[in-house]
Amino acid sequence: MLNQLTISKLTTRLARREVSAREATQACLDQINRVDGQIHAFISLNAADALAQADAADHAMVSGATQAQQPLLGVPIAVKDVLAVKGQPLNCGSKILGQFVSPYDATAVEKLKAAGAIVFGRLNMDEFAMGSSTENSAFGLTRNPWDLTRIPGGSSGGSAAAVAADEAIATLGSDTGGSIRQPAALCGCVGLKPTYGRVSRYGLVAFASSLDQIGPFTKDVRDCATMLNVISGHDRRDSTSVAQPVPDYTAGLTGNIKGLRLGLPKEYMIGGLDPEVKAAVDAAVRQLQSLGASVEEISLPHTEYAAATYYIIAPAEASANLARFDGIRYGARVDGADPLELYCRTRGAGFGPEVKRRIILGTYVLSSGYYDAYYLRAQKVRTLIRQDFLKAFEQVDAIITPTTPTAAFRIGEKSDDPLQMYLSDVFTISCNLAGICGVSLPCGFTSNAEAKLPIGLQLLGKPFGEETMLRIAHAYEQSTSWHQEKPLICS
Ligand code: GLN
Repeated sequence: MLNQLTISKLTTRLARREVSAREATQACLDQINRVDGQIHAFISLNAADALAQADAADHAMVSGATQAQQPLLGVPIAVKDVLAVKGQPLNCGSKILGQFVSPYDATAVEKLKAAGAIVFGRLNMDEFAMGSSTENSAFGLTRNPWDLTRIPGGSSGGSAAAVAADEAIATLGSDTGGSIRQPAALCGCVGLKPTYGRVSRYGLVAFASSLDQIGPFTKDVRDCATMLNVISGHDRRDSTSVAQPVPDYTAGLTGNIKGLRLGLPKEYMIGGLDPEVKAAVDAAVRQLQSLGASVEEISLPHTEYAAATYYIIAPAEASANLARFDGIRYGARVDGADPLELYCRTRGAGFGPEVKRRIILGTYVLSSGYYDAYYLRAQKVRTLIRQDFLKAFEQVDAIITPTTPTAAFRIGEKSDDPLQMYLSDVFTISCNLAGICGVSLPCGFTSNAEAKLPIGLQLLGKPFGEETMLRIAHAYEQSTSWHQEKPLICS
């Protein structure tokens, strides 16, 4: 079935005219009709618009357009509800944006469209990307395609579930503390957070601006490299995007990792690490060694402070970023006798409990008297965490860790315990604090009696070291078959 294909297989078949973009898009829409009532990866979808884009791609191919010029020509790609797509609703998984429709395209979306992609659908997420389970969405939860009683991870749970269940060929998500890599791990797909500055965030609704990055979810590492080729690069509309040349990330996938040095941080072997996750990562380490990489123990001494640091900095930035949702400029409004009452009523009714918790926490750590004790100290620790990584990268080319301490947990299991929920991000958060790149890819399954659950391997790379990181990920993937497994719901 066409919806099951990777980008590389689909584009090959499209180029040979064996299939049309319309057929590929229809196959995704059919799969959504078949399974999304159970999974709920999509908040909304405009099928007519998707098919019209597909027809335009088919016409372009007849008129001579090629994948050499447009590497995603005819490929259906769905996006997280935090990215602006012109003419489509933009809700960030929240009620507060009401009937808001985006007047413009995010740069990453504009680049996908320029590369010929069919950009469709609004994918479910934790409200304003705050969460690790997609249970914080105002539009209802998303279920893990491998086991419908479990969460898909978050906050980009819809983006991960849609790829895992073959409802889209690839998707975009955003990652502030793990929101791409953690759901990719729990849903058994590939998810990459680029280096801070690699991809423009213009048109990404801001959560924590010093941490946010946009990145792809795909079925394999090659597709991930293709997506990164398209969305990367400097953009004058995002001053944090860096004017570094974009290499061809697919050209770096040589399969040869002989002589590369990999680091295993001793601080990541924590008590809460599930034995099956540990065993899968240990096996992946042996596999990488057998491919010719050398593996050595390294130390990232400030790791134990990462979660605390993140949960000060991210809410602080969020409290400032979310001030713009005031009932005046965008979306929903609850009227009041005066502007203050209007703000309070709108924000009281529009934001969900987790978003309110973050705004309160963030306002508190920035308030006078607490700023030095919390925010300033967290910024200093953040610098130490970045230095840990830069020092480690003098010794190794990439770092290997589990992506998450456990496989997907049950719906409701952690929703009443924010601290437990926050701790599910321990392995992904440091990467954002340090501004480096990270990728998660499948490295095994649990032996769960009811349904086996995917396990993710995380590789962390140097700043702008995506090429080497992807080469290692690809070499590992091609020597294993984990990425070829499909959840039962797809059969
Ligand atoms: N789970 C983390 C949080 O809730 C990370 C979210 C994200 O990366 N957007 O903040």
